[in-house]
Amino acid sequence: MERPTVGEKRRLLIYLLCCMLAFLVLIGRLAYIGLFRSSQWQEMAYEQQTRDRLITARRGDILDRNGVGIAETQTVAAVSVVPAEVKEKEETAKFLADTLELDYDDVLEKVQQKVALVRIQSKVDTETAQAIRQADLPGVKVDEDVQRIYPFGELAAQVVGFVGKDNQGIIGLEAKYDDVLEGEQGKILTLTDAKGKELSQEQERIPPVDGGNLVTTLDVTIQQYAEQTLAKTVESKQAKKGSLIVMNPQNGEIYAMANYPSFDLNEPFTINNPELAAAWEGLSSKEQSDALNTMWRNSAINDTYEPGSIFKIITSVAGLEEGVVTPESTFYCRGFHVAGDRQIKCWRYPRTHGAETFAEGVQNSCNPVFMEIAERLGAETFLDYVEKLGFREKTGIDLAGEATGIIHELKNVGPVELATMSFGQSFQITPLQLMRAISATVNGGYLVTPHIGYGIADENGNLTETFSYEKGEQVLSEKTSETMKTIL
Ligand SMILES: [Zn+2]
Repeated sequence: MERPTVGEKRRLLIYLLCCMLAFLVLIGRLAYIGLFRSSQWQEMAYEQQTRDRLITARRGDILDRNGVGIAETQTVAAVSVVPAEVKEKEETAKFLADTLELDYDDVLEKVQQKVALVRIQSKVDTETAQAIRQADLPGVKVDEDVQRIYPFGELAAQVVGFVGKDNQGIIGLEAKYDDVLEGEQGKILTLTDAKGKELSQEQERIPPVDGGNLVTTLDVTIQQYAEQTLAKTVESKQAKKGSLIVMNPQNGEIYAMANYPSFDLNEPFTINNPELAAAWEGLSSKEQSDALNTMWRNSAINDTYEPGSIFKIITSVAGLEEGVVTPESTFYCRGFHVAGDRQIKCWRYPRTHGAETFAEGVQNSCNPVFMEIAERLGAETFLDYVEKLGFREKTGIDLAGEATGIIHELKNVGPVELATMSFGQSFQITPLQLMRAISATVNGGYLVTPHIGYGIADENGNLTETFSYEKGEQVLSEKTSETMKTIL
């Protein structure tokens, strides 16, 4: 036998080293899996051998203050198939397609899939579900499922909000109180072989935990009146939109919060604007989502506007509190007031209000009276009250996306800005900020926390938890508040 050449020896040595290296890597990997990953592998094997079917928890209802359901959960059924257990694929597919009014080819394709479990249809009504259960076809499973419905459709739509396909809140109270409402999913565990076939009839059922019912401060009847009034007003003014809030000034409980136009909570992805709806298919997906977001927007808290004359109430309390005016103080309206280099008119110009007391000035909504008061206060003190009454902060309402006021900084407030601010122009606030500040002017001076969530109730409607809200900081004296209430 010939001796191997030096070259052959070297190649053999390299080959041997490679083998040893590969072997070491494998040993290391084995040790790693054994030592560190075993629990994970066990878990994966368990999951392959048991086939879970999830049981959706019943989402809690959203109720008004009298227990009337605004958002409710209806029991329906979900129909699934375990392909490995189906004996007559075509027959089963035909039966399911007929009963559920589905396309036969689609159903057959699902029944033939090589998966452990395939969902055929969710949100099946209880009657149809019962018919499928009675047919007792091998491999066909009917599980309880739930569906969200909004009995009043458009009522308080932007406030209540809606849920997505996974039953999770997307906007409004449905999103804000998701933790309270959602509950916990349950499971049905079934032991199966690797192909997904059931090994025994034994099943382990982990029951779902139902969500809590959210009791709100809303009142369906007041909300309905608010929406009718708002719709009439917006239409008669030929405005594009409007908001209306009804709140208890003593404790911040909101009885109604309406936005016009509204939309149907049962069809939240259907645009409410007829022109947009007609052109819908031609819009880009960004245009579509912008339009939907605009429709879902709760303008009462998410948008700012120039308040106008109603802000004179704020100027009034600042003047009363600082003692620069009393109800009996006298003023004289010439139809305008000179601020800086400008002549700013009373709404009554060219006519005048003539001589009037402060209380009469409020009744007349006479601009010069308020420009005069703001001048007496000075810009710094005036802005202090704007801040004190909460216009630079969020109100803290239990809804997402709240905006805050857009207000001049002191350095930018000259005589003209001060004069226009005194009657509610040249700055922006949200309707809810205004509601809260006006409440303080008549409730003894407290800046309450506006809210809609009241508490949680059990399935019989009994309160199991009541949310607490702070009374709020006192920003005005009892006396000023009492005087203002009388004048108003
Ligand atoms: Zn006037």
